[in-house]
Amino acid sequence: MPKEPSFENAIAFAAELIRIPGLSGREGDVAQRVLEEMQALGFSDVRADEVGNVIGVTPGLGKAPPVLLNCHLDVVDEGDHDAWETPPFAGEIVDDVLHGRGAMDIKGPLALMTYAAAGLSELAQGDIIVAHTVFEERGGLGMKHLLDSSLVNPGAVILGEATHGDVCIGHRGRAELEVTIEGIAGHASVPERASNPLDLVGGVLAAITDLADDERCDPVLGQSNAVATMVRVLPESHNVIPDRAVVVIDWRVLPDTSEQDMVAELSARIRSRLGDIPEGLSYHVELATERQRTYTGQENDWGLFTPSFLMDPEHRVVRAAAEAVGRRDGATGDADVRPWKFATDGGWSCGVFGIPTLGFAPGEERYAHTNCEQLSLEEARWAFARYPALVTAVQESLRA
Ligand SMILES: [Zn+2]
Repeated sequence: MPKEPSFENAIAFAAELIRIPGLSGREGDVAQRVLEEMQALGFSDVRADEVGNVIGVTPGLGKAPPVLLNCHLDVVDEGDHDAWETPPFAGEIVDDVLHGRGAMDIKGPLALMTYAAAGLSELAQGDIIVAHTVFEERGGLGMKHLLDSSLVNPGAVILGEATHGDVCIGHRGRAELEVTIEGIAGHASVPERASNPLDLVGGVLAAITDLADDERCDPVLGQSNAVATMVRVLPESHNVIPDRAVVVIDWRVLPDTSEQDMVAELSARIRSRLGDIPEGLSYHVELATERQRTYTGQENDWGLFTPSFLMDPEHRVVRAAAEAVGRRDGATGDADVRPWKFATDGGWSCGVFGIPTLGFAPGEERYAHTNCEQLSLEEARWAFARYPALVTAVQESLRA
């Protein structure tokens, strides 16, 4: 007999997952536990793919396209344990509130979504694919891999990132760019023998400010914004003129902005600030990359760009979802439809792969990535009861 997909069992599972830490690239133990739970709940085709995403299916009646329910397996660093009121990895429930790293981002919703999908066994119009992905917190390698592979082909995606019971339909993208200025190192006592890359940093920072003065605005997503967040030099000695300086830029971008657009625009702004640059100095602008290694052992150089996305608030999938979810306060009417402030894997599923994507989950954005991360069980109970109607309505809307 499969395990009973009740709310109480889901919360017990969420608390257990909180007790298994797992930063991006170290999700193996969490993945293994999720895999076992999917098997216990009676999912079909339970498996992990090459990068370690965990996938299971609740087979439908074949009358509607499949829907993908998605959370991520990784969490962000918990920081100083002493700064937490309840220990980050205890999974404690105090006064009907679940506490700890991942309580709402995203192990609580992961458990609720997984259990809700199990509860729809033999009732769903189409297949419900539950896939929980790796590396969401570092740009979404797991989701990109999942959709690049032909393992799943959903008609819509429902994300479990916190919406506080609203229906979320997009967000700005996030890119990390680097301006690298190369010069010639030398002893600080004889600057005439060196070419100091720091001489150009002022112009580069001014160019970033120029960019910020001229940001685009979207009526739903708000403004894009670019800020300098770090200047690094190499070598780091205080009595050496460095041969390299790197300025790091965090850029929150609107849809239809490509990596090439960003690099071209920033390069143009820098050119107009710096004019002719002295001999011995040069610079280039590029998207920052980091080497990412999955817990399954795959290594990738990953460009630090999470794309943006925005669904039309009148899209039939969005309208069906808002109607099915209803209002958290119990009043009649549709759920509020709005964007998130933060970035999600929806940038891949919708922004890049063009699959209708929305989010619905309990939890308040303001607790995400903080040392007071928590999930109200009253809200979780309400959201858990809304998932069946949501999934059914989204499948119905895809059939239309
Ligand atoms: Zn998240």
